[in-house]
Amino acid sequence: MHEREHDSRIGGACMRCHVETRPALYKCFMCFQLPPLCEQCVKDAHKHAPFHDIQVWRNNCFSRITLASIGFVVNLGHDGDPCPHGAAKSTSKYTVLHEGGIHEVQALRCFCPVREEKGRDAMTLWRSDLFPATFLRPQTAMTSGVLRGFHLLTLTTKVTASGFCTYLRRRTSYWSKDDSKDRAREFFMAFRMFCFLLQLKRHAQSPPSLDGELRAGSLAIFCAACPQPGINMTPGWESRPREKQ
Ligand SMILES: [Zn+2]
Ligand SMILES: [Zn+2]
Ligand SMILES: [Zn+2]
Repeated sequence: MHEREHDSRIGGACMRCHVETRPALYKCFMCFQLPPLCEQCVKDAHKHAPFHDIQVWRNNCFSRITLASIGFVVNLGHDGDPCPHGAAKSTSKYTVLHEGGIHEVQALRCFCPVREEKGRDAMTLWRSDLFPATFLRPQTAMTSGVLRGFHLLTLTTKVTASGFCTYLRRRTSYWSKDDSKDRAREFFMAFRMFCFLLQLKRHAQSPPSLDGELRAGSLAIFCAACPQPGINMTPGWESRPREKQ
């Protein structure tokens, strides 16, 4: 077990920037073969993996910390770069449910001018692969990975949504689920909404609010075994007595 954690480069010069005054005290075991890095380089290395758990070498052992605790800011939109219109704007706090646990993150939203302001925060989140728990002023979001992962689990195991949320909380803090926020209610809502929107997409339907009411049966799956006139029914079936049709 110690072989995995042992690294003689810990405490030496950073392996990326090679600045002597920046000791390499941070290591991410979720990144594959990432060397020990200094604080700034570990933040730079996680621009596209902002929900990883980081370990810091303190008091002769590794301790788990979050990227947010060392000042990491998630930039929404612009492929992870800060919004050019958001330089003077403050960041917002979000709770994110990720396959690796539940994270509190500071995020800088996109402030670029757009025509449609309604639901803008929610759409900015979703374009960054974070499904909002609500479309009005969202403060909690789930990665598409955690939603798809749970969907597959519901098809292959007997795990419940509340059991899955407890797992995510224990995944965040191994010893106690109470160290992270309970976001089960938000997860239930978001998962149902996500599944409904997925159904709409697969059946090429618009959300009801955009296109009036959904037609009856528009989300039904075609059943090849059911009687289909002209396909698997004997010609002249209409003229037969009802009990023999
Ligand atoms: Zn460095
Ligand atoms: Zn990482
Ligand atoms: Zn922007």
